[in-house]
This record gives sequence, structure tokens and C-alpha cells, in this order.
Amino acid sequence: MALSFNPDTIELPKGHFIGGRYIGANGVLPMHRPSDAIAYADCPVADADLVDQAVSVAKTALRESGWSTRRPRERTNAMHRWADLIEAEGETLARLEAVSSTRPIAQLMQGDVVVTAEQIRFFAEFADKEGSDLVPTDDLSLGMIMTEPYGVVGAITPWNFPLSMAGWKLGPALAAGNAIVLKPSEMTPFSTLYLAQLAVRAGIPEGLINIVLGDGQTTGQAMTGHPDIGKISFTGSTGAGSAIMANIARTGVKPMTLELGGKSPQIVFSDTDLMLAADAIANSILSNAGQACVAGSRVLVEEAAMEPLVAALLARMATIEPGPTWDERSNYSPIISERQIDRIHAIVRAARDAGAECLAGGKRLEREGYFYAPTLLSNVDQASPAVKEEIFGPVLTVQSFADEEEALALADHPSYGLAAGLFTRDLNRSIRMTRRLQAGTVWVNRYSRSRDHILPTGGYKRSGIGKDLGREAYHANRKSKSVLINLQDQT
Ligand code: NAD
Repeated sequence: MALSFNPDTIELPKGHFIGGRYIGANGVLPMHRPSDAIAYADCPVADADLVDQAVSVAKTALRESGWSTRRPRERTNAMHRWADLIEAEGETLARLEAVSSTRPIAQLMQGDVVVTAEQIRFFAEFADKEGSDLVPTDDLSLGMIMTEPYGVVGAITPWNFPLSMAGWKLGPALAAGNAIVLKPSEMTPFSTLYLAQLAVRAGIPEGLINIVLGDGQTTGQAMTGHPDIGKISFTGSTGAGSAIMANIARTGVKPMTLELGGKSPQIVFSDTDLMLAADAIANSILSNAGQACVAGSRVLVEEAAMEPLVAALLARMATIEPGPTWDERSNYSPIISERQIDRIHAIVRAARDAGAECLAGGKRLEREGYFYAPTLLSNVDQASPAVKEEIFGPVLTVQSFADEEEALALADHPSYGLAAGLFTRDLNRSIRMTRRLQAGTVWVNRYSRSRDHILPTGGYKRSGIGKDLGREAYHANRKSKSVLINLQDQT
């Protein structure tokens, strides 16, 4: 199947999606295509009144559709029909995403689209299988933990994997019986809009999924402070996560899950299959050009393995095929914006000025768009911003260690704890170290999430609060009520 397309011919959804239809709005935030830097659209910004309208439509839809009160299998069935449509319309979804985002069309078709449909199916199956629990009490009482949806859930997503991030939020919230107001990133809203449109076509009641567009300051803040949004589910940077917590504290109290940034280590022992380790590490930093929360950007390698591992990483970095996201031959992503590419370069330059050796890359690629070369820095100091800060770009640092204790000390980040990779053939060591690594996910002899939706994802430390995916994500979208009934006959 030929996947390449002309981005100028793509019809973009217009406006916010509220109550099952697009509400036209004037775009105000200029959008640039990362692949060629061309300004091609303007994103509208929903103000507090429009957010309020979306919440009120969601509340009414929930009440009138019986989404949370009818037989739960109806939710399951509707969500499976939605997943069928996501697969059938995969190419349209992928094109809408490829235009605005950094995801190449071939990877979208093989990865993100398939994964999004799977996530919807995965969560659909919880609706009629997980419910209230009876709990042990004395014979004269009936004890129960009853669970209920929150009502309207607010979700805010980032630009780096727009479709699958929307799936992470919409799947569990809907299966759990909620209505949703979702704000995608102002840089990549189109695939999320179309995803919501497909939900309506699949028979999910109009108004149950509402997409409001805009930035964090205006639209995001109006959502997190809205009194009728019962819960916030956020994925994005740690800075924005803190601002959201502060706004929730200022405007009222509501539960939240926060999936935030990371600076994940990959620890390589010399007893491992070094080619397997190099492949996994290279994939993790080349995929989406390092613009992934779990990018394994800090390589820690046992001294004896340093030379062969670096050689293998350099060889893998040389295999990229950069190109526009709408060209099916491209396997290497652009950076999301001019601002972000400048930030990446500033961190790399500062590291070099401080004595780091740049073994590959270290510069922008000479072509249109925002492409940055895969970069490998050695001789870096643990205190250097290249080692400490989430760069969100294709930049790896390599540091050596002498033993397990030193590896653990280097791996431990003062604020982040999202993921870690561990490469060793020594089973005991892998278990010993996994127990001590401060990370929400530990991968051993691999480094990817792939399609294991049952494993929850989330961070330790300032990488987040709560989990997406897994059973936990479903239960995070329901609140529990403790019920105790006296069974004694009344006189
Ligand atoms: P960002 O924090 O700038 O924006 C994320 C979303 O939050 C956007 O929709 C934005 O408009 C909104 N937002 C920003 N400030 C807000 C505020 N004060 N109130 C409400 N909403 C606000 O992040 P980004 O640049 O879009 O994405 C990259 C970041 O996301 C990285 O830090 C990455 O690690 C993180 N991320 C984390 C995970 C995870 O699972 N932990 C997954 C993907 C991305």
C-alpha cells in the first residue's frame, strides 16, 4: 500500500468538537509543520465560557444517554465498534497526525494507529468485568465497596504521541462510564478530533467525548479549575504538572493523575549481548527523535563494555532515514518546533563547552524542517544539564561505571523516576537491581513498552502521580463508596 501523500491536499477538521459536531472557531495560534517548517493552520483557543459549554454538554449527554447506567456490555460493544472504525479509517487518522506531528506515516500505520485501536478494545473489556466488591463483615451486616464513575473527566494530552495518548485517556474514562472533555496539544489536535468523530459514528453518544482546542494557560487552566470536572488526567511536562496541581489546589480539590517527564537510565553490563543492548538503546533514542517520555537517554555502561557498545551505537545512529513525515520512506522524525531544536542545541553546546566529547551529531541536519542529528556525548559530568535535564531530543550521554553500586548511584536521578533499562545475563543481579531502581517501569534486556497494555505506566518521584494503562487506569476513572447495611430485622 502506498502511504506517501501530499500534505497540502489534506482536509483538516475545523474547530472544537462539542456535542458531536464541530464548532467553528477562528484560529489564533499559528501552527508549523515540523517536517518543512511551513505555517499551515491556526489553532483556535477555547476560553472559559467554551470550556464551560463543553462540560455542560458532557453532563447532559451522560444523563440523557444512560451511558453509565445501562448494561455495561453496551459500553463494551460500542467501544469495539469504535476500535473497528479506527482500524478501517487508520490511513485518514495517520495522515492527520503526520501533517502536524513528528510521527512518520509508516510508523503511524504500523504502530500508533494499531496501538490506539488495541487500547480501546483493551479498556472496553473492563466495563462489564470489574465492579463493586462485597467485603467480609459480621453475619448481621452486608459490607460493600461500590464503585461509580466520576461523571465528567478532564484529560489533557501532549504533542509527542497524540493518537495513543488520546487512547490512554479516552479508553479507561469511557469504559468506566464517564463523559470526557479532552484538550489535545495545541500543536497536534487533528487526529484527536477525528478520533472523537469516529466515536460518534460508532454509536458512542454525541456529547460524551468533547474536544476543546487551545493552550495550557487559557483552555487547560479553565479545565483544571472547572468545578464540574470530577477528575483530571494529564500527560505532559513536570513543569505543567506542577502548575496544574497548583491550580487545582487554588480552585478546589479533585483527584488527578499526572504522567510527567523523565530522564531514564539504561544500564549495560559487559556480560550482556551487546548488540541486543545497542539495538534497544538506539531504538529508544531514535524513535520519535528522542521525543518520548521514556527515552532512555542516559547510557551507563560497565567499563569493559564501553568501547564495543559505543561502536555499535554509532553504527545504529548512522542508519537513519530522515524525511518528511508524509513520506513512507522516512524513519527518523523531525523535532516539534524551532524553539525546541534551539533548546536541544543549547544543551549540547553547553555540554561540549564543559568538556564533553561529541562522538556523533551535535548539530542540526542541513535540510528543511526541524531535524537534529542523532547525538552521542561521552565524558559528561553527572551534574551537566545534558545528564540532568530532560532534553526531549535525539541526544544520548554515555558514562562508565565500575560495579553495581556505582551504576545504581549514577542511575538515581534527583527528581525523575519514569523508567530504567537493565542489560545483563545475570538473573540474580537483574532482580537485585530491579528492586533498588527508583523507576515506575524497569525493562530487563529490552527497552520498550510495545503492546503490553496490561502493565500500568507512570512515574516515581516527580515523574508523576498515578498510572495510565493497566487495571489501575480503569479504576482511577471510578470513585469508591463504602456501604454497610444492617441486616437485622427492625422491630
Ligand atoms: P507540555 O507540558 O508543554 O504540554 C502538555 C499539555 O498540557 C498540552 O496540551 C498543553 O497545552 C497543556 N498545558 C500546558 N500547561 C498547562 C497548564 N498550566 N494547565 C493545563 N494544561 C497545560 O508538554 P509537551 O511539550 O506537550 O509534551 C512533552 C512532555 O510530556 C515531556 O516532558 C514528556 O516527558 C511528557 N510526557 C510524559 C508521558 C508519560 O507517560 N509520563 C508521556 C508523553 C509525554
